[in-house]
Amino acid sequence: MTEPTFATRVSRWYEENARDLPWREPGVGAWAILVSEVMLQQTPVVRVLPAWHAWMTRWPTPAALADDTPAEAIRMWGRLGYPRRAVRLRDCAVAVVERHGGEVPDRLDQLLALPGVGTYTARAVAAFAYGQRHPVVDTNVRRVVSRAVAGEPDAGPATRPADLVACEELLPAEPAAAALASAAFMELGAIICTARSPRCAVCPVESVCRWRASGQEAPAGPTRRPQRYAGTDRQVRGLLLGVLRDATGPVPHQRLDQVWTDDVQRSRALAGLVKDGLVEPVGEESFRLVGDGGPAPLPLP
Ligand code: SF4
Repeated sequence: MTEPTFATRVSRWYEENARDLPWREPGVGAWAILVSEVMLQQTPVVRVLPAWHAWMTRWPTPAALADDTPAEAIRMWGRLGYPRRAVRLRDCAVAVVERHGGEVPDRLDQLLALPGVGTYTARAVAAFAYGQRHPVVDTNVRRVVSRAVAGEPDAGPATRPADLVACEELLPAEPAAAALASAAFMELGAIICTARSPRCAVCPVESVCRWRASGQEAPAGPTRRPQRYAGTDRQVRGLLLGVLRDATGPVPHQRLDQVWTDDVQRSRALAGLVKDGLVEPVGEESFRLVGDGGPAPLPLP
């Protein structure tokens, strides 16, 4: 009897053990999957779940979001972090309406051409929404492939073309099976082959994993220092954005001045928000979320 392939082992495990997540439910559309992928890029699942439900309730289609302002997208994004994603998601919704009649396209080239949709997100939507065969490579998948196939404990710096090739070589030929395997690789990296505490004893590829066979220990400490937040421009940006999110119109700069005493850092943070297309000046003295209560600016190209 032939041995099951790497993908078969992981896919079988996935079908028995995958987390029950709403964007994986049968019948969930491409828009819902795209929104989940954008939210999950830099935010943990537990924080994404309520935000995703709220977002999809308010804007169940790209057209619904495209009809609303970027300011509302930023408000709904709340404290998920990296709020440029909210504006880019709305830009994406506008592009889907203008270029594709409101339907998220299924062609990889068309997905890649959408604002805010990069290599990972385009392939994730093509695979998970449309059942296509594409390597879907995030940090978790890179780590699984690196350990199990290359026998290296960490994936090292991202080398996108090489990562895509290494992952694609593991995918079954049949598109639906490949899409399932892509989801399975991601899940394995997320909950079993984690960075610091891989659970090799319950891993479905333990018997064929090169890193496990080498007998090496998991890396002892974090290879990346946790990012400092307190006192950073990110914190100041978050405070400024919080005031603007809670306001119903332009906010005088005197009110914004109250959020942080360091004038230089506060000005720098505010200028960064304007540069990133999240905030816009109103006259000489006030600021608002972009497009808040007025015509929405054109989306970024
Ligand atoms: S056996 Fe261990 S190191 Fe190898 S893929 Fe599984 S969890 Fe990761």
